[in-house]
Amino acid sequence: MPRDESALDQLKKLNKERDGLLSKARSEALENAKEAVKVLKELGLEYSLVEGKSQSVKGSLSDKPCDLCGFGTSPPHDKRKHRWVLGFEDTPFTASKLRELNLTKV
Ligand SMILES: [Zn+2]
Repeated sequence: MPRDESALDQLKKLNKERDGLLSKARSEALENAKEAVKVLKELGLEYSLVEGKSQSVKGSLSDKPCDLCGFGTSPPHDKRKHRWVLGFEDTPFTASKLRELNLTKV
């Protein structure tokens, strides 16, 4: 009767192979995704690849003041809104801009 060790060794080998395949599949998928993001960018759409679980934007948006303006608004906005509205994201909204966007300082 052969010892179980050989089966265990096989399993270890398979696991290693699996890891290798997984990381290969991962990098292939990542390449595809990067390519897709590139295409989206060429279409003028701003997307980025983020590894890991995505953070709940809705949850963090509601009670956090905007990083740029330094105050919160109702409905809430964040600096990405600046990019959408202004085309860049390093200038706080002015009072008239807020009115234009129907945002109220809170
Ligand atoms: Zn802001």
